[in-house]
Amino acid sequence: MKIIKKREKSKLLIGLNYLDKRTKLDNTDKRYLINLEKGYEGEERFDTLVKTYLTGEALVINDLLIENKGNVFQIDALIVTTDTLYLYEIKNYKGDFQMNSGQLSYTSGQEIRNPLTQLKRTKELLRQLVKEWGLSYRIEANVLFINETFTLYNANVEDSIIFSTQIKDALIKLNTKCKRLTKQCNYLADKLIDMHKEESLFQKQLPLYNKKELKTGVVCSCGSFNLIITQRSCYCKVCYKQLSIEELLIGSIEEFKYLFPEQKVTTSTINEWCGNRVNHRKIRHILQTHLMAYGKNSGTYYE
Ligand SMILES: [Zn+2]
Repeated sequence: MKIIKKREKSKLLIGLNYLDKRTKLDNTDKRYLINLEKGYEGEERFDTLVKTYLTGEALVINDLLIENKGNVFQIDALIVTTDTLYLYEIKNYKGDFQMNSGQLSYTSGQEIRNPLTQLKRTKELLRQLVKEWGLSYRIEANVLFINETFTLYNANVEDSIIFSTQIKDALIKLNTKCKRLTKQCNYLADKLIDMHKEESLFQKQLPLYNKKELKTGVVCSCGSFNLIITQRSCYCKVCYKQLSIEELLIGSIEEFKYLFPEQKVTTSTINEWCGNRVNHRKIRHILQTHLMAYGKNSGTYYE
């Protein structure tokens, strides 16, 4: 098995995470962030299972966002084997659900969008694309419920669903179907990755924010600003995580560059962004080491 496209947090998830620590997101954005995080966590859990149990010859492509002829579709995970593409829509739902005449709802009654409907569309769009390229592959598509606390009443045995208890066996079984990969498999995988779009106009955008409204200071990944900073390291008083000053600064600089791509990165902007909590010279040293310097003296900025 070879992973040819790794999973990474989406820009939107990274951005919402940054903003969540430094400002109060409204309820809709907060709920959206929680769902994105939950989804990402579930996908990562699947990746771990793939790495553990998929040993046969196969190419793994994670997180594809493809636009073809005005149709946009997203694939959480795709496994390319000699003659079959295994398509997975990963859902990290928790709790008790029921299926009634193609409608998915919580057992409490609240309806949610049925991922099987979405899967059918994705499968069809992928089928068309593969056909346009003159290739022929069987496509086996499944919704994969990754969370072990997820229960679905009234599901049919023929529904394209893999439950958390079945994933390991499904992957082991997949190994037995893996034959030697052909050039065509690599060609297909490369073409799919070429079509991948980083960002989409159809995706939700970050809420508007203003630098003055954001809390400055150095912040831990857990969201706490309560850090003890020494010469070389920093330590979070809430989650006890320890980081070197270098790691802390690199994270803060990345965050600043992400949130304010138009602004120049200088020692003093970063110093201010870090709430003047880190030695000025240390900041300059990190900027000089990790970025390119332009300009002179007080006008020096980094990219
Ligand atoms: Zn922490």
